[in-house]
Amino acid sequence: HPEKWCRGFNHFISQCLIKDFEKRPSVTHLLEHPFIKQVHGKDMSLQKQLAELIQEQQQLGSVAKTRHEQIHTRGPYHVDRADKYSLDDDLVNLEVLDEDTIIHQLQKRYADFQIYTYVGDILIALNPFQNLSIYSPQFSKLYHGVKRSSNPPHIFASADAAYQSMVTFSKDQCIIISGESGAGKTESAHLIVQHLTFLGKANNRALREKILQVNPLVEAFGNACTAINDNSSRFGKYLEMMFTPTGAVMGAKISEYLLEKSRVIKQAVGEKNFHIFYYIYAGLYHQKKLSEYRLPDKKPPRYIDNETGRVMHDIVTKDSYGRQFEAIQHCFRIIGFTDEEVYSVYRILTGILNTGNIEFAAISSQHQTDKSEVPDPEALDNAAALLSIGSEELQEALTSHCVVTRGETIIRTNTVDKAADVRDAMSKALYGRLFSWIVNRINTLLQPDKNICGMNVGILDIFGFENFARNSFEQLCINIANEQIQFYFNQHIFALEQMEYQSEGIDAATVEYEDNRPLLDMFLQKPMGLLSLLDEESRFPQATDLTLVDKFEDNLRCKYFWRPKGVELSFGIQHYAGKVLYDASAFLEKNRDTLPADIVVVLRTSENKLLQQLFSSPLTKTGTFCTYSLMDLLSKMVVGQPHFIRCIKPNDDREALMFSHERVLLQLRYTGILETVKIRQKGYSHRILFEEFVKRYYYLAFKAHETPLGSRENCLAILEKSKLDNWILGKTKVFLKYYHIEQLNLFLREVM
Ligand code: ADP
Ligand code: MG
Repeated sequence: HPEKWCRGFNHFISQCLIKDFEKRPSVTHLLEHPFIKQVHGKDMSLQKQLAELIQEQQQLGSVAKTRHEQIHTRGPYHVDRADKYSLDDDLVNLEVLDEDTIIHQLQKRYADFQIYTYVGDILIALNPFQNLSIYSPQFSKLYHGVKRSSNPPHIFASADAAYQSMVTFSKDQCIIISGESGAGKTESAHLIVQHLTFLGKANNRALREKILQVNPLVEAFGNACTAINDNSSRFGKYLEMMFTPTGAVMGAKISEYLLEKSRVIKQAVGEKNFHIFYYIYAGLYHQKKLSEYRLPDKKPPRYIDNETGRVMHDIVTKDSYGRQFEAIQHCFRIIGFTDEEVYSVYRILTGILNTGNIEFAAISSQHQTDKSEVPDPEALDNAAALLSIGSEELQEALTSHCVVTRGETIIRTNTVDKAADVRDAMSKALYGRLFSWIVNRINTLLQPDKNICGMNVGILDIFGFENFARNSFEQLCINIANEQIQFYFNQHIFALEQMEYQSEGIDAATVEYEDNRPLLDMFLQKPMGLLSLLDEESRFPQATDLTLVDKFEDNLRCKYFWRPKGVELSFGIQHYAGKVLYDASAFLEKNRDTLPADIVVVLRTSENKLLQQLFSSPLTKTGTFCTYSLMDLLSKMVVGQPHFIRCIKPNDDREALMFSHERVLLQLRYTGILETVKIRQKGYSHRILFEEFVKRYYYLAFKAHETPLGSRENCLAILEKSKLDNWILGKTKVFLKYYHIEQLNLFLREVM
């Protein structure tokens, strides 16, 4: 709908063009504007229409003056929030506050391609499910360092706010992106990195290039196609971009959480393995190098062929996987991996694919029925060759294991099933460790100069809440992580704020919100929380998944847990985002995640240096990986000043322009948007100690060489000089609205 589309962007376009037009008021020049060209291509009528629109505005004198002029004519501290500002942009401006009004507003904006909306300082992002031309460098420029109300809401504005706040106060920031699977978190994270790279312009172009390759590379290894999202993140990612004290980008660091390793060996119907396996198989196929990596060219290996024939058909007919492989090779090169390292990575990946093809058969003799062998040695030999280990040693480690009893080492044989489990455990361990190694290697390559004491903006993008037809251990881990993010959001938006009103004697209306603390306690409490119980049960050799669910039922007596009748291995949890029914099959095994020592011993003998290194560290494990990982995740997040982005999925069919009232309402409800709007309307989102406030803003009322005390009076002096209203002074803190901060920072930049 080109016309509708154009209407949706008139505002954006005008903003961009008006600036240009002011500098050079010529219509011809305007038509040559790269933005007009890019957006409208050869459609001259649309271009003319726009040009006329702008001329009209000019004549009516309604074109806003440049920021400089405004300041000059209105005095330095006057900010007129109404100019160029649409009240629709921020839900806080709504007079009637109810679900209907909010949803109506969002729906109207979505139909107009306005996918972003503010709730005070929080950004709501609706997934457009189509490419919009609002992320070009022109837009980065448009949103650079201007006050938020100058432009319609945008993810760049949020990235900009975090960056400006970091530079102005030399304080670490973190951007927390949440939303259910497929809501647009990962895309948002990319856009933030893009804008931050633009803002943190260093002379070092190579470094910028490197940072931009980080996400594509780790996502090739950590993302996969699921029933909900073709590019679903199967791990949690925290990317820190580091800047010098003057705000030039100087490095990056990435942390990974809870990679869904089980995907390597098995995928649900309609889902796929990690992208990289298809990329490499297709890449080698097209480069005619499959035989070099000992892969069959008629039928893809079992691990990537769960829908017989489909994958091969895709690989032969479409070359997109092959092109992705080239892109990944490019990423490796740009970031700085050596050819030898990349070669080792390929050998390990193809080694895993061959490992998956190893089959076992029972050797039945009269006395031993629990013995297995590898009847066809081809896959075994291939895997061993690619992993640079002995084929016989590998077979040995797969089909038998050592037990030490009373100081004596006895060799026991493995059944066929056990051998297959060991094989799969080996593949998972190989992949998991390879992934961690890649992440660590990236961190080393992008490490900033240690002598510069910088600051950073962290971007948290985890796997979103999931509720499938069948939910397993992986979904439980994912959903607990999301539960923690929701808790963190609640803490920051509601709990901490309202606690401070009390302690500072401020009379601000309280807002009720859904606290998920009791549910989190049910998961995390020691020793009786669900995860502790799971760990405990995992330590009993006799335990089964059924005894585990029994144990849950006996100990978790609260309204959030229930056990449906008639389905033994299933249990339900009432999550903040909805009810989920879990199937406990293989919970214990997945939680134990053990790799037999025999396999480690063999892998350590590898002649592949990288592989040796992957298994050189001792295998330590304390409690579940899951619990450990979550604690780590939270402790990191608490460090910086948080910025929240809430992604919303407008429909389940990934359709552009389709707005499902029901689905959006559900998400608004469980994320507590209505309550968030209320607290942003009534509350004071920024509470700053007097001393800190004076330190930050004394320039606004004092001379540069003065060192005023951090007193209440001095705060008052600054606030009065800035002509802001609606603030409150507490006992020890200044209480400000979210928009005050932006105004103060702008003033500050102007006087400094
Ligand atoms: P999540 O990480 O929340 O699971 P993604 O970020 O992977 O979701 O988004 C799912 C899909 O939605 C993307 O592959 C893309 O097709 C589409 N999408 C999300 N955000 C945008 C956007 N801003 N512009 C265009 N398409 C988007
Ligand atoms: Mg994602």
